[in-house]
Amino acid sequence: PKRIFSGIQPTGSIHLGNYLGAIAQWVKLQEQNEDVILSIVDLHSMTLPHEPKILSRNILEMTATLLGCGIDPDRVVLFQQSAVPAHTELCWCLGCISTMARLAHLPQYKEKSKDMKDIPLGLFVYPILQAADILAYKTTHVPVGEDQVQQIQLAQDLARMFNSRFGDTFPIPHTITTGAEYARLRSLRDPSKKMSKSDPDPKSRICLTDNFDDVVRNIKKAVTDFTSEVTYDPEGRPGVSNLIGIHSFVTKKPVEDICKEAEGINTGQYKLVVAEAVVSYLRPIQDRISYYLKDERYLLDVLRRGGEKAGEISERNMEEVRCRLGLRFTA
Ligand code: ATP
Ligand code: MG
Repeated sequence: PKRIFSGIQPTGSIHLGNYLGAIAQWVKLQEQNEDVILSIVDLHSMTLPHEPKILSRNILEMTATLLGCGIDPDRVVLFQQSAVPAHTELCWCLGCISTMARLAHLPQYKEKSKDMKDIPLGLFVYPILQAADILAYKTTHVPVGEDQVQQIQLAQDLARMFNSRFGDTFPIPHTITTGAEYARLRSLRDPSKKMSKSDPDPKSRICLTDNFDDVVRNIKKAVTDFTSEVTYDPEGRPGVSNLIGIHSFVTKKPVEDICKEAEGINTGQYKLVVAEAVVSYLRPIQDRISYYLKDERYLLDVLRRGGEKAGEISERNMEEVRCRLGLRFTA
């Protein structure tokens, strides 16, 4: 049977890249009545130095945001990673069959550790925890943004290695990506980078909870190039093409139609069109997020119920893993 798992870090606010790459897909799968498990992966957000009070706040905000985006906790399992012990236990078990060389090659680690003098061990081990998140539920499909495809390959390799050494236990998880050409949104400040929550410059992204003046200003200031027409060419013109991608996502219009409609206006004028479309798109989402944020008891209850369900599923699988590894005695 198909089992879908995905996670999102409770660091900072959700940006349009996360929304397009991850959350919009989750909502779609939920609507298709798939078996979906979604985790707010709080342990992952400790891989870089963090402030405890802010982390707690972010977990609640992420919960409200997901609900505001249309996730229904009665139809999917929505829970907090740290509430379910299987993640860290399986992380250890998988860590013992991984190698340092393999982890050092992953692009996310290379990118994030590039300018660091002392690299936290958690940042290095992170992909194994991610593999554990996925495998603990015997996941078959992982909807992620384009930037995560290589990380998921590690989970696939570890599942294969575990199965061949200890017996068939885990299905090999497949990735599902949006398939859209613009599936990886780029930084508004530097279109060679992806739009990222952890980018120190907030002007590089559009967050679901940004105030509208900031949205308009950041889009107006988005880095483009010296050609004034609006044409779609992600390789040659990544800046403008990124705006077209954003525009297409929020209006559900195909890229070709957008370019046709923008014939005769320059990129400066086009930015205003995009900004207006983004603001109308965000308005109802923001209203729903603030509605949920007012009810902390409800948010905590959602997480508690989700945690119980996730705990049951993963504990069953972990008991099998413990048996496979020789940690249990069968009479
Ligand atoms: P960080 O910089 O802290 O890693 P992030 O912006 O990459 O933050 P994550 O929480 O790591 O966000 O990722 C959540 C989901 O959003 C993942 O499925 C990821 O693939 C997707 N995602 C992140 N950035 C983008 C982007 N620019 N375009 C499309 N999808 C994205
Ligand atoms: Mg990321």
